[in-house]
Amino acid sequence: MVNWKCDSPARVAAIGECMIEHREVGTDLKSVPGSARRFSGDTLNTLTYMARLLDRGTAEPFYITALGMDPDSAAMLAAWEEEGINTAFVRRFRDKLPGSYTISTAQDGERQFSYDRDKSAARELFRDDYAESLSNSLKDLDLLYLSGITVAILPPHDREKLLNLLRTLRRAGVIIVYDPNYRAVLWASPAEARDWSGRVYLETDVAMPGFADEKALFDNAAPEQSCKRLADLGITEVIMKNGSSPCLVAAGQDIVRFPVTFQDGVADTTAAGDSFNAGYISSRLCGHDIAASIRAGQTLAGMVIQHHGAIIPRDDTPPLYRIIG
Ligand code: ADP
Repeated sequence: MVNWKCDSPARVAAIGECMIEHREVGTDLKSVPGSARRFSGDTLNTLTYMARLLDRGTAEPFYITALGMDPDSAAMLAAWEEEGINTAFVRRFRDKLPGSYTISTAQDGERQFSYDRDKSAARELFRDDYAESLSNSLKDLDLLYLSGITVAILPPHDREKLLNLLRTLRRAGVIIVYDPNYRAVLWASPAEARDWSGRVYLETDVAMPGFADEKALFDNAAPEQSCKRLADLGITEVIMKNGSSPCLVAAGQDIVRFPVTFQDGVADTTAAGDSFNAGYISSRLCGHDIAASIRAGQTLAGMVIQHHGAIIPRDDTPPLYRIIG
């Protein structure tokens, strides 16, 4: 059983990378009004939604990453603080910049992503002995959230430091929540991604994969099979998302299905999984059971996919108590 009981406010942290998003329209880069400089990253998306769902008395959210000393990095920090995210664990490097990516839309409407993140600041997060200092300063966290992207961007010897950090924090009672979020382009091979995801799963209390990623990595034919494989690893709470198909939960012996309410007018499924995770985790932190928390995840994801982009306007994000009803 995962012990979700936390002192208020719960100290929750996400660790990962946020990037600068550019949009290419024709040949004119950054020409869409209001979209000149947007910031996005899977772990940050989840943390942002958690910060919005939970009031300050309920949770204190921290983002752990590395940035440069440039104006984009300063703007990112300001934007996170504006969302109520604590940036005390954001490292700054003089010799580094944030990663970025460009979305171009082909004539047939298909979106293409090109990334420039090979030398990003976040890849160097564990430079020197920062992982060790985090293991000391984060012991009183309640929950640490990470994704496969967090793991993938680190050089292999720093991935070992991340695993050690997870082990130390877990021993100190921190709940480790992991979404493998597989991005083939970030890994040398599928085998490398499979190996590292497998190792992180062994340090995980709550697994929140999308079935598409599990299928791509572990070739399980059905979501039930994936759920069972993860439960057999000893993960006590397995939550499997599967687009518009039912979410599956393995907590104990049984696998339970939670159908997704039909969603009219899906505009863009970017961050569906990230926002689902935020709804689920926030609800669990507030003491709600698995069924209510799955509904919270599905409800928030259902709102997010009716908008374009990963982060919907703040005024359109209800607090958790209104989602739970
Ligand atoms: P991931 O990005 O982690 O693979 P999914 O794509 O499975 O996540 O989606 C996460 C959640 O978002 C689903 O469980 C569901 O609640 C919601 N969702 C995603 N796509 C749809 C859709 N087409 N219609 C309704 N809900 C959806």
